[in-house]
Amino acid sequence: MNKAGHVSFGVAMGTAGLYVMPAPLHAWEVVAVIGGSALASLLPDLDHKTSTASNWIQLPHAYRKMAKGASLPLLVGALLAWWMGEPVAMVLAGAGALAFGLSRLRSVILLVLGMTSLFVFAQLHTHWLLAVIGGALVVMPALKHRGMIHSPEFALLLSAGLHLFTREQGPILQAVALGLVIGWWTHLIGDAFGKEGISLLIWPKAKLALRMVENGGRVEWLIAKACSAVSVVLIVHYLVQNGTILQ
Ligand SMILES: [Zn+2]
Repeated sequence: MNKAGHVSFGVAMGTAGLYVMPAPLHAWEVVAVIGGSALASLLPDLDHKTSTASNWIQLPHAYRKMAKGASLPLLVGALLAWWMGEPVAMVLAGAGALAFGLSRLRSVILLVLGMTSLFVFAQLHTHWLLAVIGGALVVMPALKHRGMIHSPEFALLLSAGLHLFTREQGPILQAVALGLVIGWWTHLIGDAFGKEGISLLIWPKAKLALRMVENGGRVEWLIAKACSAVSVVLIVHYLVQNGTILQ
């Protein structure tokens, strides 16, 4: 599935999730569930170098190419200037490193976020969820698409972590966590409908690829439209049904 299919499927499932809650949710909790499911419906594709989620944290292709092209001459220039004892060497080295970093901005951001999470976990001994997320972010640049991040095992770990971490927190955070869990699993289900499918981490041969939906094809377009329509109906019905709570 592509962006439109994943988001509309995730939001539809997030909206359906509102109906299985033991008590009606307040307006902001509804927004948190739906927002969380929309976000997480795209997040697993952070393991793909040019997915929508990855494009949030990197420069457009043309700029990446430009930065990459500039980095080598700048670094070679820095080396030559250093060799000749020119003080401009430091400036060139800094500019070269900056250009290289900008060309790999996705990897830089994933590594910085991951290492920050691991550092905070190690220093504050907070919930192990932070260590799982930090570890996943650090290794993400080296992972293959639809590998560990797309595995049901990782989804289970993430779901358990989010549930255990937020059960002591306020209702908004719990709503966000519910949305994230629904969106994440919906993404995996969406991918399982395609021809590449998803597979188990511990037994990669156990693969689920239903080959029913072609990426960006007509069936996906129909699913996206149907899911959007279902979401609107379910949200309006939910708001009307629980009108008093939303006031
Ligand atoms: Zn995916």
